[in-house]
Amino acid sequence: MTFTDDIYEVGKLPPLGVIPKKMHAWTIRTERLGDPLTAFEEEIVDTPIPRAGEVLVANYAAGINYNGIWAARGTPQNVITSNGRYGDKPEPFHICGSESSGIVYAVGEGVENVKVGDEVLISGWKYDRNCSYIKNGGEPEYSPTYHIWGYESNWGAFAQFSRVLDIQCEKKPACLNWNEAAVCTATGVPVNRMLRHWSGNKLREGDVVLIWGGAGGLGSSAIRQAVLYGAIPVAVVSSDERGEYCKSLGAAGYINRKNYTHWGNISNLDPQEYMQWMFQATQFRNEIFSIVGKKCLPSIVLEHPGGDTLATSLFVCANGGMVVLCGATTGYLATIDLRYLWMYQKRIQGSHAASSDDCKEYLSLCESRGLRPDINKVYQWNELPRAHADMAKGNDLMGKYVVRIVPDSIKE
Ligand code: NDP
Repeated sequence: MTFTDDIYEVGKLPPLGVIPKKMHAWTIRTERLGDPLTAFEEEIVDTPIPRAGEVLVANYAAGINYNGIWAARGTPQNVITSNGRYGDKPEPFHICGSESSGIVYAVGEGVENVKVGDEVLISGWKYDRNCSYIKNGGEPEYSPTYHIWGYESNWGAFAQFSRVLDIQCEKKPACLNWNEAAVCTATGVPVNRMLRHWSGNKLREGDVVLIWGGAGGLGSSAIRQAVLYGAIPVAVVSSDERGEYCKSLGAAGYINRKNYTHWGNISNLDPQEYMQWMFQATQFRNEIFSIVGKKCLPSIVLEHPGGDTLATSLFVCANGGMVVLCGATTGYLATIDLRYLWMYQKRIQGSHAASSDDCKEYLSLCESRGLRPDINKVYQWNELPRAHADMAKGNDLMGKYVVRIVPDSIKE
């Protein structure tokens, strides 16, 4: 590896293979946690050096995700206090960002899947392939070492350079531009896992799938993917404008959740209130029937609001169907009516991040079926805190947010 003392301004890069000893990065620190607008600050930090099995990537673009908001707020955990947990030196700062695209600038010993100069996209899941769980045949996603880069571990994508494991790198398909490649893996690929990974409940042609937050990052990708699998996506949204956007992506129709009030905890409802809850849940279910044009319930419900919506998700899920949940934006504590779980043999399945196989299936949809992540807005480097603040407000979000690190003029 060749090093230089020069610091490159953001948007410029040294010759391929030359590593600046210092780089620009957006960091969070404990004393700044709170509002994403002020939690992130640009600093100059040491460029991380790739060790055995690791790759140094010059980031061209990075995806903005909700975990950047959680990290900036310091809740539910202060990621700075735990960023040394997975083999890195603990640092008083944390670089967030769990997906990106870029060019390989250096590789550590033993790296064989990529080489300097390769165009790659970087996924956020990391694990120690030498841990005893994986060595004994366990699947990486269930290993105690499995964690999310840029959230649970440091040196994420919001920097000129990132140090990642070789297993995080996939060759960038030519059909995706830098921005698209940067935003595949934190939402599109986990969505693919939610729809297609869980044995016994894989999405099939003709299935109805209910998609919460259809206009958001996960939701927009879920609609696109469901259509490619021949399924019938029904979106849930908070405005007609967002609903129309979902229809433009291929949703069969949408439900405006603002027409309902039966959200949240159902454990302390008196019998009268429970009847009201049931009335609204039934109305909600009937809207699905009228969108689909027949009495057909969703065999998969794609859940991520959590606390407010899980009871309704379970209620409307088809017999033997699956509510698959990957987050809890509206609250971690949820209540359900268990009768709908066991009597109708439904499944509530947790799903988190993805595996290389899920990534390959997603990228094959990109290459063979023209799948693209939907990008709402491209922010410039200095707008990164604003991008998180906008996402936290959730006002105009339709599709993914990207932060551009190296301009198109360098290479597109
Ligand atoms: P977005 O902000 O893009 O979308 C979330 C959507 O949720 C919004 O568009 C909004 O749509 C909807 N929403 C907001 N409040 C409510 C509510 N009270 N009830 C129902 N829907 C609501 O976020 P993402 O799609 O990127 O991520 C969603 C969640 O999934 C986050 O918590 C994120 O951390 C998690 N996630 C988890 C992953 C994993 O692998 N574990 C992967 C990616 C994301 P509208 O207002 O139109 O209803």
